[in-house]
Amino acid sequence: MFSEELEKYRWDEITERIYAKNADDVERALSKQHLQIDDFMALVSPAATPYLEEMAAQSRMYTQQRFGNTISLYIPLYITNSCTNCCVYCGFNHNNPIERVILTPEEIEEECKAIRRLGPFENLLIVTGENPRDAGVDYLEKALQTARPYFSNLSIEVMPLSSDDYYRLTQSGLNGVVCFQETYHRDRYKIYHPKGMKSNFEWRVNGFDRMGQAGVHKIGMGVLVGLEDWRTDVTFMALHLQYLRKKYWKTRYSVNFPRLRPSKGNFQPNVVMNDKELAQTIFAYRIFDHDVDISVSTRENPHFRDHIATLGATSLSAGSKTEPGGYYTHPQASEQFSVSDERTPAEVAQAIRAVGNEAVWKDWDRIFD
Ligand code: SF4
Repeated sequence: MFSEELEKYRWDEITERIYAKNADDVERALSKQHLQIDDFMALVSPAATPYLEEMAAQSRMYTQQRFGNTISLYIPLYITNSCTNCCVYCGFNHNNPIERVILTPEEIEEECKAIRRLGPFENLLIVTGENPRDAGVDYLEKALQTARPYFSNLSIEVMPLSSDDYYRLTQSGLNGVVCFQETYHRDRYKIYHPKGMKSNFEWRVNGFDRMGQAGVHKIGMGVLVGLEDWRTDVTFMALHLQYLRKKYWKTRYSVNFPRLRPSKGNFQPNVVMNDKELAQTIFAYRIFDHDVDISVSTRENPHFRDHIATLGATSLSAGSKTEPGGYYTHPQASEQFSVSDERTPAEVAQAIRAVGNEAVWKDWDRIFD
């Protein structure tokens, strides 16, 4: 399990190593075809800032080699905002006095139909808070079965599950699982996740092993930018990705670097990553791992998304609502966070085409399940 692997590393030591990198280290990393984690640290270090253009060129080259000029489009469907956790940065925090909604299967079906009216989406990401009692595995299974006829690719972003439960859901059409570790800083993790299941760092960080063991086709990873030093957090995630690739080599992987957005509770970020730094991180990941899918959600602004779609990103969400039932059945429900790119799916697709890329709505068929 990755928690054992993590014992080999100290947060402060990794941070020190990143900040000690210099121009020679960056140039050495950029001269290699296959990078080690030490090279990755150089690329996310402050020393790499003057090399952004060269990093962008390499990132673009590898992305085009592996993915062609394509951007895959997906849309999230929030089916409940009920949550037993108290993550201090989240609008769905159990302590926030908001109306809680758990969509019924009938409502989920209405949402699916509404999404299909928005655009020819085939990739759906089903999102929930964490409420094992009222929205547990049975509920998720039913949601997947309900959505299955409308979409060819189904992913979930829900509480970490057991390996058996992941396997069970793959039998109901589950293709991918997204889970954000939020931060790899084991001690500070407790401060952001004081109560509920999510306060268990080990259970969360080992969830990726359980997905791999269950044979989930695609695993999505992410750290929440705004909690701890982002350079250190993305390096730990790179270590984790490297570990998973070796162990579960049949699985596809994606990464995401969500930056904190305003939400109920008004949590103020401890650290800020600017657009250039987010681009640097995306380039570093692409140069480090040529095959990883890099996803950029509507948390990011249209200008940034349009540009990064030519330089390293491979999938974008579009038309997103972050409240349960937000497409049709409960348009007034409370959102998890406010989105930054409010364009319609058609506008996002048009912007993708305008920079010479193809917008791909479907890249999977259930016949592959
Ligand atoms: S981040 Fe997820 S688990 Fe935490 S409060 Fe929000 S919905 Fe619940």
